[in-house]
Amino acid sequence: MNNNNQTSTNIVTRFAPSPSGQLHLGHAYTALFAWKLAKRSNGKFILRIEDIDTGRCNAQFEKEIFEDLEWLGIEWDEPVMRQSERAQAYKSALDSLIEKQLIYQCFCTRKEIIQEINNSIAAPQKNHAQYKIYPGTCRSLPISQRKTKLLSGSPFAWRLDFKKALEHTGNLYWVDRLKGNQKVTSEKVGDVVLARKDIGTSYHLAVTIDDSAQDISLINRGADLFDATHIHRLLQKLLGLKTPEWHHSPLLKDEFGKRLSKSEGASTLRELRQKGVTKSEIWSLAIQNLATSSVKNTNFKS
Ligand code: GLU
Repeated sequence: MNNNNQTSTNIVTRFAPSPSGQLHLGHAYTALFAWKLAKRSNGKFILRIEDIDTGRCNAQFEKEIFEDLEWLGIEWDEPVMRQSERAQAYKSALDSLIEKQLIYQCFCTRKEIIQEINNSIAAPQKNHAQYKIYPGTCRSLPISQRKTKLLSGSPFAWRLDFKKALEHTGNLYWVDRLKGNQKVTSEKVGDVVLARKDIGTSYHLAVTIDDSAQDISLINRGADLFDATHIHRLLQKLLGLKTPEWHHSPLLKDEFGKRLSKSEGASTLRELRQKGVTKSEIWSLAIQNLATSSVKNTNFKS
């Protein structure tokens, strides 16, 4: 790709799988859609391997992701970025948030959080349980207790003080290509973890830093990550990063209405290949699905 030929309408998209399993049909659609958009605008399609969770990710799955994409005929434009090699970038961002005093140490265990949510009788807290929103226990931890925990070496995560951070930035907005203008709200996400106890970063922090570092102009992903975008937009503002646009595709379903996802046991691309499904069949299924369900205005044709 010749950068000199790029104009402001060149779209830079990305596909950012986690090598914690094999790619399934839903992944293929996401990748094909992003690739097609980039190519059509003479832009770039970038592949990023999101492997911060070293306990769940492995090199074999990563190798299979490359093979599956090659089989689909998808090529990427830049050297592959691996999040496992980016710890320093995540640490610098975290340090700047610590300095701004917009994040706090959270010592809670998963069990304690669930207990806290279940013990609460207030209706809003019940909603927290439904969405698994952190009830804010450590946000108001007295300084003396915090000090004692730190001195005794209790492990902690860093959580975003969402409301305080939003007060700091003022109202924020972002654009989803399908659903239009959105106002940032903490309602469905709460004080999320930005640095896990075990790995020192999190999906939210890493994805925000990397989408910016790779100059992604259109973030294409499934609608299951729609609410997460409120967090990412806020982080962009706090860290002085550019704001792209988003496209959250409705989650694709099979003929029985089952989600095409790993957790629902959807067929992997490898399994489909072994059953004799061809690349062009996957392509036409993707085009059909995308044209009818997700992207009414994008005139997605092969
Ligand atoms: N790594 C995430 C996944 O495999 C994708 C995150 C994103 O597209 O923002 O589900």
